Amino acid sequence: MSVVSRLLRARPITSNTLRTLSSSYSTSPPLSPPENDVTPPSPSFKHPTDGRNVQWVFLGCPGVGKGTYASRLSKLLNVPHIATGDLVRDELNTKGPLSEQLSEIVNQGKLVSDNLIIDLLSKRLEAGEAKGESGFILDGFPRTIRQAEILEGVTNIDLVINLKLREEALLAKCLGRRTCSQCGGNYNVACIDIKADNERPAMYMPPLLPPSHCASKLITRADDTEEVVKERLRIYNEKSRPVEEFYRKRGKLLEFDLPGGIPESWTKLLQLLNLDDHEDTRSAAA
Ligand SMILES: [Zn+2]
Repeated sequence: MSVVSRLLRARPITSNTLRTLSSSYSTSPPLSPPENDVTPPSPSFKHPTDGRNVQWVFLGCPGVGKGTYASRLSKLLNVPHIATGDLVRDELNTKGPLSEQLSEIVNQGKLVSDNLIIDLLSKRLEAGEAKGESGFILDGFPRTIRQAEILEGVTNIDLVINLKLREEALLAKCLGRRTCSQCGGNYNVACIDIKADNERPAMYMPPLLPPSHCASKLITRADDTEEVVKERLRIYNEKSRPVEEFYRKRGKLLEFDLPGGIPESWTKLLQLLNLDDHEDTRSAAA
């Protein structure tokens, strides 16, 4: 068992760790970057050997589909899928103490501050810990170098999966998103059909159409307008691209170019993760 594993075993995510997560935001100086600038090879996936569950992070532009793949993997590996976007929306819906501040930020497509996100995430991890959860797949966190440094300081992230999709497809996908106002089902009316050019192969993503009983009840999220989506992409490039580099230097970044729609991409992702012969693969994909 490695030293890191033993340390982790001795110190899983506990209330103390979470307090560190919150307090290190305001007190600790930024960690210095690794001195070695050589990019290590892509990480290969292994199950943790010390009995705990996986601790993974999903990166990728807003709308790339992090939620879809993170949610499927969380079912497959039996770990919670923690999406900071959901934490923010829950706080908004419950009209919690932060909701007024949050709604202004979200409606302008701006980035919620590190401080606010860490408060929400700490609350969520504490609740999970109380229920006996082990491991996690984070989706939407860390979103800045500062958040990545804080996370790296309190726990060991095994693997960071970077989902990639070209920008024209991303934009179409975001503008095509619909939610059923009755059952909450998520659909996408966009049909993305991009011809091959000199740089990249052709790409086809069929729409994900709702069943007939949902079709007349579809709504578009208030923050899925072209203006807001473009602003989110701009902010992603400015604040979150460096997070990819942060994990690449640490040998934890696994790049995944989405080849198409969900069935095709899911199969390829499982192959990349060496999970394609996982016993529960079939039921999780259903
Ligand atoms: Zn419905």
